[in-house]
Amino acid sequence: MDTNSKGVTLIVAMHELSLTQNILDVALLSAGKKRLVRVNLLIGQFSDEREEAIRFYWDDLAKDTPACTAELTFQWVKAEMKCLDCGTIFYPAEETALCPVCQSYHLKLLSGDDVRLDSIDVE
Ligand SMILES: [Zn+2]
Repeated sequence: MDTNSKGVTLIVAMHELSLTQNILDVALLSAGKKRLVRVNLLIGQFSDEREEAIRFYWDDLAKDTPACTAELTFQWVKAEMKCLDCGTIFYPAEETALCPVCQSYHLKLLSGDDVRLDSIDVE
């Protein structure tokens, strides 16, 4: 059991690492020859625990690049769920929510579990 849970943690961490590398690559490419001042990310309601991991990897990955002084900002995005039984779209307060109309747990998460690059500020 213990080994298992460590494996899962590692997979999540690897995912954050490649995600952060990807965000950094795109931000640097978009900035071109300008100085990258701020990198604005959209983070899903159900991904908020990933912010810390991304900040951690960012510091490490960006330190030898022109993005080393750039500030990382996170904007919260509300989760959106669709009920696969009655089609209702709603904004759940938590990941384990039930459909507010028919109480179904047969739901699809439309947004709120991802992290995306929204924009960058350069000067
Ligand atoms: Zn429903």
